Amino acid sequence: MRSQIHLPEEYKNLLTSKRNLSEVGEMLSGKKHIHTVCSEAKCPNIGKCFKSGTATFLIMGSKCTRDCAFCAIDKNPTSPIDEDESDEVIDAVRKMNLKYVVITSVTRDDIEDGGAEYFNLLSSRIKNEFPGIMVETLVPDFRQNISNLKKIEKKNIDVFNHNLETVKELYPKVRSKADYGFSLSMLREAKSMGMTVKTGIMVGLGETEKEIGELFEDISDAGAEILTIGQYFMPTKNHYQVQKYYLSEEFDALKKMAEGIGIKNVVSGVFVRSSYNAYETYKGVKK
Ligand code: SF4
Repeated sequence: MRSQIHLPEEYKNLLTSKRNLSEVGEMLSGKKHIHTVCSEAKCPNIGKCFKSGTATFLIMGSKCTRDCAFCAIDKNPTSPIDEDESDEVIDAVRKMNLKYVVITSVTRDDIEDGGAEYFNLLSSRIKNEFPGIMVETLVPDFRQNISNLKKIEKKNIDVFNHNLETVKELYPKVRSKADYGFSLSMLREAKSMGMTVKTGIMVGLGETEKEIGELFEDISDAGAEILTIGQYFMPTKNHYQVQKYYLSEEFDALKKMAEGIGIKNVVSGVFVRSSYNAYETYKGVKK
């Protein structure tokens, strides 16, 4: 029988404020076709990000063609991208008075280029309509085809992000339709295209320290300049079981380890998510 892993005491002070969630809900009211990851995932950092003018939009619908064991998103999209979606994103960016926009998506293996062209068009629209705004694209693997990635134009984005999520050894268990080597090659290719490259991982899935060290080496070799590290939480009791809750000092140690390996900007903590404090982190890169 599996022993119960208890939530550490230090985690309990960091609960999401309902007020912040409802503020975002009001901003988006009437928008049927868009979702912010911030409110959908009830992200605990929503207040902080929102105050700093950052929000993360989930595009290409809310259903995914993959089945990662840690993810609660609905599966099996049946419809093409909604034509109203991009207009609603633009309208929300205007209404929320954002400085930094993160665009991310479900994986759409049912679309020929995995959505690469759409990412590029929407980033371009945001850049054109809101001069001075910063755009980060947190992309899926575009059907594991590098020529699709090349549709993303550097001029339309400030940060290229693709999450590795976990160590290579756990891919078959938790990210079975993804390919670790290909995801790394996405980071490498984006770097060679001159982009600022970012990736993110979760810990607590059963990775070993040695495997984490090798992952950091791979990330550094691929040229990523920004790395986010956060704790995995089970979205429901039917999802992949948390194997360990890391304490704050362990997140600090992971940050030191990654920096020691050569990754310049590492954000590490229990509730750190890919887009956590993205604007501040980006400013750090540009110093
Ligand atoms: S590809 Fe992304 S959205 Fe789809 S199941 Fe995996 S983590 Fe969830």
